[in-house]
Amino acid sequence: MRRCLAYSAMLPLLWLSLCSTALRAQEVSWLPDSLSNGSPCLFSVHLQGANHVTGTWQGHPLTFFRTHDPATWDVLAGIDVAVKPGVYPLQIEATLADGTTRHTEQSIRIEEAPYPTTTLTVPEKFVAPSAASLKIIAADRVLKEQAFAKTSPQPLWSGPFRPPLAIAPKTDSFGTRRTFNGTLASIHRGMDYRAKPLTPVKAVNAGRVILAHKLYYEGNCVIIDHGQGLMTLYMHLSHFRVRQGDNVRQGQLLGLSGATGRVTGPHLHLGVRWQGAYLDASKLFQMELPATPTVQKAVPTP
Ligand SMILES: [Zn+2]
Repeated sequence: MRRCLAYSAMLPLLWLSLCSTALRAQEVSWLPDSLSNGSPCLFSVHLQGANHVTGTWQGHPLTFFRTHDPATWDVLAGIDVAVKPGVYPLQIEATLADGTTRHTEQSIRIEEAPYPTTTLTVPEKFVAPSAASLKIIAADRVLKEQAFAKTSPQPLWSGPFRPPLAIAPKTDSFGTRRTFNGTLASIHRGMDYRAKPLTPVKAVNAGRVILAHKLYYEGNCVIIDHGQGLMTLYMHLSHFRVRQGDNVRQGQLLGLSGATGRVTGPHLHLGVRWQGAYLDASKLFQMELPATPTVQKAVPTP
């Protein structure tokens, strides 16, 4: 690399042609084949002799990990539910063992997912919160932002994600455009399960508990960091069974379902968040994902 930098001082164009060559289109792929707003996606780069692979996707930084196949590098990313359909660039840069780089830019089409619209009625205090409640909501926002900033630079997940409950989710609950009491519109950024109170809620993959706290809207809420900005959120719990700082394995009991926070009845709300984008959990559960070189320390906090 040092040699390349020396050239760059004298002959920038020659340096570019010598040291940075384009990846071929067939060296980049993604799952699922068809992407839409709310999709998680696995980007893959197939390249012999790479030491480090990074990228940029819709303004988000990507750091690829090497899979069991030394020539394949993956990263789990996503497309926010509110992203407009269109064609978006995926930029990738790979550094090879000899210090040279390869780069590519792929155009990726995002289709529009058919999410429904619905109207809900909830207690007025959740639509027009009092001044005291607004203070709690503002404090909650700070807590959540602090938690969201705690992501691991490496993936903590490994292999496919599994549902948090044995029961089926309410169909079409993710991405629904909602009107609360006819006044407040929002997009539902999670999946609802009609869980009876006290149903065990389990971790969808391995990770670290970055928040286990009572919040105004979310009720008793657990947030798990799966690394690289990927997090899952479990809301409206009646009881916690983990604490902030715990490392958890897939299927580990996190808490019991309930009806705390802004709810119309007992249920579990599961959110999937990637670098601030909200993704459809049902699409995540359908993906055949690879093992990662996780750096899990299976030592729970005392
Ligand atoms: Zn919900």
